[in-house]
Amino acid sequence: MTFKRFAEYLAKIEAESGRLEIIRMLSELFSELEPEELPKAVLLLTGRVAPEFLGLEFGVAEKEAAKALALAVGADEAEVWRRVRELGDVGHAAQELLPDQEGGLPLLEVFEELLALAKDAGPGSQLRKRERLSRLLKQASPLEAVYILRIVTGRLRLGVGEATILDALAQAVLGDRAKRPMLERAYNLTSDLAYVAELALKGEEALQNVRVQVGKPIRMMLAERLPNAEAIMKKLGRHIAEYKYDGERIQVHFDGEQFWVYSRRIENITHQYPDLLKAFRAHLKKPYILEAEAVVYDPDTGELLPFQFVLNRKVKHLSRELIEKYPVKAFVFELLYLDGEALIDLPLVERRERLEAFVPKTDRFEPSERRWIESAEELEAFFDEALEVGDEGLMCKRPDGNYEAGKRGFKWVKFKRAAGGRLADTLDLVVVGAWWGRGRRSGTYGSLLVASYNPEEDRFETVTKVGSGFTDEDLQKILPARLDPLRREGPAPRVWAFLEPDVWFEPGLVIEVEAQEITLSPNHTCAYGKVKEGRGLALRFPRFLRYRDDKSPEEATTSDEVVELYRLQWK
Ligand code: ATP
Repeated sequence: MTFKRFAEYLAKIEAESGRLEIIRMLSELFSELEPEELPKAVLLLTGRVAPEFLGLEFGVAEKEAAKALALAVGADEAEVWRRVRELGDVGHAAQELLPDQEGGLPLLEVFEELLALAKDAGPGSQLRKRERLSRLLKQASPLEAVYILRIVTGRLRLGVGEATILDALAQAVLGDRAKRPMLERAYNLTSDLAYVAELALKGEEALQNVRVQVGKPIRMMLAERLPNAEAIMKKLGRHIAEYKYDGERIQVHFDGEQFWVYSRRIENITHQYPDLLKAFRAHLKKPYILEAEAVVYDPDTGELLPFQFVLNRKVKHLSRELIEKYPVKAFVFELLYLDGEALIDLPLVERRERLEAFVPKTDRFEPSERRWIESAEELEAFFDEALEVGDEGLMCKRPDGNYEAGKRGFKWVKFKRAAGGRLADTLDLVVVGAWWGRGRRSGTYGSLLVASYNPEEDRFETVTKVGSGFTDEDLQKILPARLDPLRREGPAPRVWAFLEPDVWFEPGLVIEVEAQEITLSPNHTCAYGKVKEGRGLALRFPRFLRYRDDKSPEEATTSDEVVELYRLQWK
């Protein structure tokens, strides 16, 4: 396929808002591609040339892209930049400035050029990238240029999530959308859409035989919630409860030489924990994949400190000073792979046995604290103990449960202290819009429109307006810095809203919100019609708690979870 044809598909998809129609178009596109083109096209649809966990970025700011465009058309840089500002997008500027040429480079060739561009780093790379991009633009038709520029500047916003891509792949390659779970499983084990597309082309057997691989992140298993000890006993019976530590979840991969550390959102954060990895290297010699909660402790008292402290390590260049100021200890709660053997399908009791035999108790890491629980009284007692030592509560786990990559289910149940109000948990919501403030808040965002995620429909459904809980710094500095780059005309394609905020955003920022209560609402689209016809769900007295940069928008609280929280209110 030519990149031109691919760009025509992108334009059609971008203009479409119906999910079924988007899936149809995507699957038509997939069927038209040659086998070697498919994995690459899948990556390009996500705006990338390598899976996200490899962290390969283009490193081309819009201003740089404008310079490349100026070079391609032989125009003055300042003039081109002025036009980009006026039109609001370097793609639009390219459409206007490039001659009406045919284009038609092969998709694979454009992909290779983009890959080379992303890989180019080090001294002089900025200039080389500019020249490479301008050569590419010189050979492109105006529409091709739009998408090349949007991809390299990280602004390809088609409104197509992973779930939709998997649906379309199931349709196009396996002949049936209902076969998406097979693809999803392969994706959950490897976090690599292009690889899943390759496997799908080989057939269903290849998909079923997919294995975890050291170095490729496994999408993390998640917990359900229940309101109290009785409900947990009823659901799980005799089970294993563990302290629920309040730090950052990390997945550590070691192949005998090299380490990879992945975050909840499957970002490579290896650089964040050099001290911890040194300790792992000294004690654990065989290849493994484990999961742990990394918690900062007070170097003077040894006391564990809350989640916010780990954030101090989220900087580009972690200095020795920061490492010493914020030392971490890892509490290991999963062993997913050991020395050539994947353990994810074993029952928890067996995984745990292997874990305890493999992971010793050291100064810098140890197995998570766990106990067998037989009754609600025992569970309550262990819960109080956990709170007393500064943990968030407990994680209650089914002893016979396997590790369900990328799934939230009742094999793990969290038992937390209710936060503030009457709700059993806080919610992690995606900012999709905002209203301008008045009075003291004029000139800043006054309140935000936030949404839950509906994975079946791959869309964001609004659930409340949040205005309280923000500090002056949040309003004046942090929110504008985070939200302004996400501003867009009209709602993003995957956002479903009845309300009309002053400003719309691309779903990007996730915030944690607490509330007093969940009520039925005609104004919000969250779980619309699920509890009552003509009504969605909304939060009452919502309050901002913190930013959840460890979550991607698709990892926000789901609309089904909001329904569950709504129902838990009366339990
Ligand atoms: P979620 O991970 O469920 O989407 P969240 O990130 O807000 O939501 P919680 O719901 O509060 O976190 O709890 C789940 C998290 O608890 C896990 O992702 C993990 O980071 C952490 N955790 C702490 N201790 C444990 C443990 N012993 N076993 C499993 N997870 C633990």
